[in-house]
Amino acid sequence: MKELDMLVVGAGFAGIYQLYKAREAGLRVKVLEMGDGVGGTWFWNRYPGARCDVESLDYSYSFSRELEEEWEWSERYATQAEILRYINHVVDRFSLRPDIELNTKVVKAHFDEKANVWEVQTEAGEVYRARYLVMATGGLSVPQRPSLEGLDSFKGRWHHSARWPNEGVDFSGRKVVLIGTGSSGVQMVPVIAEQASHLTVLQRTANFSVPAHNVPFTPQALKAAKARYPERRAMGREAITGQFLNANTKTAAEMTEQEQMAELEYRWRGAGGGFRMLRTFADQMSNPETNRLVAEFARKKIHEIVKDPRKASILTPKDDLPFGGKRLSVDSNYYETFNKPHVDIVDVGAEPLVCATETGIRTTKQDIDCDDIVFATGFDALTGALKAIDLRGEGGLTIKEKWEQGPVSYLGLFISGFPNLFVVAGPGSPSVLSNMVHSIETHVDWIMRLLKHAQQHGVQRIGATQEAEDAWVQRCADEAAKTLYPKAKSWYMGDNIDGKPRLFMPFVAGVPLYRRIIEEVASNNYQGLQMS
Ligand code: NAP
Repeated sequence: MKELDMLVVGAGFAGIYQLYKAREAGLRVKVLEMGDGVGGTWFWNRYPGARCDVESLDYSYSFSRELEEEWEWSERYATQAEILRYINHVVDRFSLRPDIELNTKVVKAHFDEKANVWEVQTEAGEVYRARYLVMATGGLSVPQRPSLEGLDSFKGRWHHSARWPNEGVDFSGRKVVLIGTGSSGVQMVPVIAEQASHLTVLQRTANFSVPAHNVPFTPQALKAAKARYPERRAMGREAITGQFLNANTKTAAEMTEQEQMAELEYRWRGAGGGFRMLRTFADQMSNPETNRLVAEFARKKIHEIVKDPRKASILTPKDDLPFGGKRLSVDSNYYETFNKPHVDIVDVGAEPLVCATETGIRTTKQDIDCDDIVFATGFDALTGALKAIDLRGEGGLTIKEKWEQGPVSYLGLFISGFPNLFVVAGPGSPSVLSNMVHSIETHVDWIMRLLKHAQQHGVQRIGATQEAEDAWVQRCADEAAKTLYPKAKSWYMGDNIDGKPRLFMPFVAGVPLYRRIIEEVASNNYQGLQMS
């Protein structure tokens, strides 16, 4: 049995920064990580084409000016491999590795109410006791795959995007079927198409994807960007998603038709690109008329790019999907790839998957032969990782019971009935709607401030009150109801998992407001928390 002040679960961006800050504060701390390397998302998602769709200069730690200065990003949007190198560099630079236990899966965490500590057990049977338990388990870390009957009898290979083999997969000369057209599928299609002799993409729901306009950094461009780093970070902090996207502050109605088109074109083309498209108009995610303008513009672009009208029509999102309602994909040549004769798209919304066969996939209308099946079918988002653990709070209450109707929390950080437990960038916080690294730093800094306060006041147990949690859950629901997000069937709403309660899980009103709220809570003597 090992006694600690803090135990952190997960060695992704969140766990690593939590370790750094806890050590700086002099706590006895360990990180337990189930993978055999650090990096979280960037450790597991090694599929071809994987890269971050938040710009590298923003999707990186801001806590160390030296780190910012010395790390040289090679592209506007870094590849998975580069981000993994960066995380490993951070771990070594700050000598964090000795406090990270790899290949260590947490299976059980029970709160000991008498001692006010968490007792945590790993799959190998090791036991840790720690005053504080930090769940840095990631919002998209539990892969989801359809239970395809017959997959065992399939004679070829199959892989999931989030469990990609370390050594890579060679698709040269092979017939490939790829299932799923979210961000992972959209990134993989152009890259797999370069190798495969034939690629068939099975799409259930067409979603919007926008061009990334990724470019390599020239040394001059990187130098110039770094010179303005503090300014860039400050602008990011005040942007709704925690990264500067040059948001238009005007509603569509405040602009002429010509101005609207110019704004849309700017965001679609080279100077803009990526998530800038989500900030074309101030009322884009709240006003259906405005959203339709953007959606219509993107639909026309798809038809301009994809030459075959049949393929273009399948790839074009339907009228009932708000632009951005499902998480926007950011691509490099996704739609263009369908102009290649050996790349096809099948609408498995219209002709659903039936099963796998020995030689491929069967839909209700056809058999598609292939050598490889690639699942890009997503995750049990935001709640999956916590629910996978036998996590029990006061009175033996399990997290599954607590979250039966959906993930309730106070500030997305605390779960009432689970004292001394913190969730980093979890449901009820901006999390997946924001630049994750920024949100992680915000949470960890705030947690450390709270723990300093607790130490100064001899506090041993910190928990959210039921009233504070209820009010926060209501606030999150009210904010989501003002937007178009609930109109889409999406993983944000839990729609991709059978039986998952339908509610919008992140806090939607933006990073700056969220930060002000948690600041206010802290300066109001940690209102909503019980400390004893
Ligand atoms: P996803 O967005 O959930 O997409 C899963 C895809 O699989 C959807 O197209 C879905 O169709 C399809 N699917 C699921 N079950 C299916 C079934 N039984 N039959 C047919 N199709 C099925 O998953 P993801 O692409 O892995 O992305 C998840 C999230 O990870 C992203 O939204 C993003 O937040 C993050 N991500 C980020 C990056 C990055 O660049 N930073 C890259 C990849 C992923 P439906 O739409 O019909 O459900």
